[in-house]
Amino acid sequence: MTSTTDHVHLVDVRTAALPPCQRCGAAVLLSARYRHSWENRAGAAVTGFKETALCPTCDAEDPAAAGLLALLGQVRHLDAAHLTALGELVPAWLGAIRHRTPDPAELAAEEALWRAGEL
Ligand SMILES: [Zn+2]
Repeated sequence: MTSTTDHVHLVDVRTAALPPCQRCGAAVLLSARYRHSWENRAGAAVTGFKETALCPTCDAEDPAAAGLLALLGQVRHLDAAHLTALGELVPAWLGAIRHRTPDPAELAAEEALWRAGEL
Protein backbone atom coordinates (compact mmCIF):
# COMPACT_ATOMS: atom_id res chain seq x y z
CA MET A 1 0.00 0.00 0.00
CA THR A 2 1.36 3.38 -0.93
CA SER A 3 -0.08 6.81 -0.61
CA THR A 4 -1.32 8.35 -3.81
CA THR A 5 -0.20 11.85 -2.82
CA ASP A 6 2.64 13.52 -0.92
CA HIS A 7 0.52 16.45 0.25
CA VAL A 8 -0.59 16.23 3.89
CA HIS A 9 -4.21 17.33 4.15
CA LEU A 10 -4.73 17.96 7.85
CA VAL A 11 -8.22 17.52 9.20
CA ASP A 12 -7.62 18.02 12.92
CA VAL A 13 -4.70 18.70 15.27
CA ARG A 14 -5.26 18.40 19.00
CA THR A 15 -2.98 19.13 21.95
CA ALA A 16 -5.44 18.52 24.80
CA ALA A 17 -7.82 15.80 25.98
CA LEU A 18 -5.81 13.14 24.19
CA PRO A 19 -5.92 9.39 24.77
CA PRO A 20 -2.68 7.79 26.01
CA CYS A 21 -0.01 6.58 23.59
CA GLN A 22 -1.05 3.32 21.93
CA ARG A 23 2.58 2.20 21.92
CA CYS A 24 3.61 2.79 25.54
CA GLY A 25 0.62 4.19 27.45
CA ALA A 26 2.28 7.53 28.28
CA ALA A 27 0.57 10.88 27.80
CA VAL A 28 0.99 12.16 24.24
CA LEU A 29 1.72 15.79 23.31
CA LEU A 30 -0.23 16.06 20.08
CA SER A 31 -2.53 14.10 17.82
CA ALA A 32 -3.01 14.83 14.13
CA ARG A 33 -5.75 13.47 11.91
CA TYR A 34 -5.28 13.71 8.17
CA ARG A 35 -6.58 12.37 4.92
CA HIS A 36 -4.96 9.14 3.86
CA SER A 37 -5.34 7.28 0.60
CA TRP A 38 -3.70 4.36 -1.13
CA GLU A 39 -4.24 1.94 -3.98
CA ASN A 40 -5.53 -1.49 -3.14
CA ARG A 41 -4.35 -4.67 -4.90
CA ALA A 42 -6.89 -4.13 -7.67
CA GLY A 43 -5.44 -0.67 -8.31
CA ALA A 44 -8.49 1.16 -7.02
CA ALA A 45 -8.02 4.25 -4.89
CA VAL A 46 -9.06 3.83 -1.27
CA THR A 47 -9.53 7.00 0.74
CA GLY A 48 -9.94 7.56 4.45
CA PHE A 49 -8.27 9.13 7.43
CA LYS A 50 -5.24 8.36 9.53
CA GLU A 51 -4.43 9.62 13.01
CA THR A 52 -0.92 9.85 14.41
CA ALA A 53 0.09 10.74 17.95
CA LEU A 54 3.31 12.40 19.03
CA CYS A 55 4.67 10.66 22.12
CA PRO A 56 7.55 12.23 24.07
CA THR A 57 8.79 8.75 25.01
CA CYS A 58 8.34 6.72 21.82
CA ASP A 59 9.32 9.55 19.46
CA ALA A 60 12.19 10.93 21.55
CA GLU A 61 14.89 9.57 19.23
CA ASP A 62 13.07 10.35 15.98
CA PRO A 63 14.72 13.27 14.14
CA ALA A 64 11.44 13.96 12.31
CA ALA A 65 9.77 14.69 15.66
CA ALA A 66 12.59 16.76 17.18
CA GLY A 67 11.14 20.18 16.31
CA LEU A 68 7.68 19.36 17.61
CA LEU A 69 9.03 17.75 20.77
CA ALA A 70 11.20 20.79 21.43
CA LEU A 71 8.28 23.17 20.96
CA LEU A 72 5.63 21.21 22.85
CA GLY A 73 7.98 20.09 25.59
CA GLN A 74 8.78 23.63 26.69
CA VAL A 75 5.47 25.50 26.50
CA ARG A 76 2.39 25.17 28.67
CA HIS A 77 0.14 27.52 26.70
CA LEU A 78 0.28 27.86 22.93
CA ASP A 79 0.27 31.47 21.78
CA ALA A 80 -0.04 32.76 18.20
CA ALA A 81 3.68 32.29 17.46
CA HIS A 82 3.51 28.70 18.72
CA LEU A 83 0.48 28.00 16.56
CA THR A 84 2.30 29.42 13.53
CA ALA A 85 5.24 27.14 14.28
CA LEU A 86 2.89 24.18 14.70
CA GLY A 87 1.38 24.99 11.30
CA GLU A 88 4.80 24.36 9.77
CA LEU A 89 6.12 21.60 12.04
CA VAL A 90 3.09 19.30 11.99
CA PRO A 91 2.89 18.89 8.19
CA ALA A 92 6.68 18.46 8.01
CA TRP A 93 6.55 15.77 10.72
CA LEU A 94 3.66 13.94 9.08
CA GLY A 95 5.29 14.19 5.67
CA ALA A 96 8.37 12.47 7.07
CA ILE A 97 6.65 9.70 9.01
CA ARG A 98 3.42 8.80 7.26
CA HIS A 99 5.00 6.55 4.65
CA ARG A 100 6.90 4.51 7.19
CA THR A 101 6.09 0.86 7.33
CA PRO A 102 6.80 -1.63 10.11
CA ASP A 103 10.13 -3.44 10.14
CA PRO A 104 9.25 -6.98 8.95
CA ALA A 105 11.71 -8.55 11.42
CA GLU A 106 10.24 -6.61 14.37
CA LEU A 107 6.73 -7.44 13.21
CA ALA A 108 7.56 -11.17 12.95
CA ALA A 109 9.14 -11.15 16.42
CA GLU A 110 6.10 -9.38 17.87
CA GLU A 111 3.76 -11.86 16.17
CA ALA A 112 5.77 -14.77 17.58
CA LEU A 113 5.45 -13.29 21.08
CA TRP A 114 1.71 -12.77 20.59
CA ARG A 115 1.19 -16.32 19.32
CA ALA A 116 3.14 -17.65 22.29
CA GLY A 117 0.86 -15.71 24.62
CA GLU A 118 3.71 -13.52 25.85
CA LEU A 119 2.45 -10.20 24.50
ZN1 LIG B 1 4.60 6.24 23.57
